[in-house]
Amino acid sequence: MIPRALIFDVDGTLAETEEAHRHAFNDSFGAFGLTWHWDRDLYRVLLKTTGGKERMREYAANHLHIDPAEIPVVEIHKHKTARYGELIAKGNVPLRPGIAELLVDAARQGLRLAIATTTNLPNVDRLIRATTGHPAADMFEVIAAGDMVGAKKPAPDVYNLALEGLGLLPSDCLAIEDSRNGLKAARAAGIPCLVCPSAYTDQDDFSAATVKISDFRQVASVKMLTRLLLPA
Ligand SMILES: [Mg+2]
Repeated sequence: MIPRALIFDVDGTLAETEEAHRHAFNDSFGAFGLTWHWDRDLYRVLLKTTGGKERMREYAANHLHIDPAEIPVVEIHKHKTARYGELIAKGNVPLRPGIAELLVDAARQGLRLAIATTTNLPNVDRLIRATTGHPAADMFEVIAAGDMVGAKKPAPDVYNLALEGLGLLPSDCLAIEDSRNGLKAARAAGIPCLVCPSAYTDQDDFSAATVKISDFRQVASVKMLTRLLLPA
């Protein structure tokens, strides 16, 4: 297949953002007087729940056995989003190696570029601005973000929204993901999916992937990508 559009996940795919998210969560718990601390091992488990607010509620209910309604989840999450933005704006989270090259070459070759992410629009824009110097909307024709849909990944909603924006069939597109939840979402929308695991997802099951790679430098151009997708 030669895709007409590439639809990118953001966190873990465009950049290894999860550590910045984790630090931002911990800073915000402290700011609200909570003694919560999410270390790397715990965060790996918590990442199975997509969406920051959902993740906090899951942690309260199933790890601390307290009523999530007692926690000001929405306010903490707002604080966390701002804190994450500060961390990203400092430019400490680069694009994963190979991603910038792929984006530039894909645009040059006339492939359409879109985003389908569980994270919210301000986070997407901050990351793209900090890493490329351009607003996200200049690089991606369609941005389907978590807060625009009813159900987050692994539900297909955000991919369906991206397809709607592109006006393309699922089979015309290629989703690019780093996690099992993302892969499931893409496949549920009928979209072929290339997976390149990230630091927090390298132990996930990716047997449903169309193609799995270990490094985005393997697909740093459309030619390299096409070669991988075509049957031998
Ligand atoms: Mg991801």
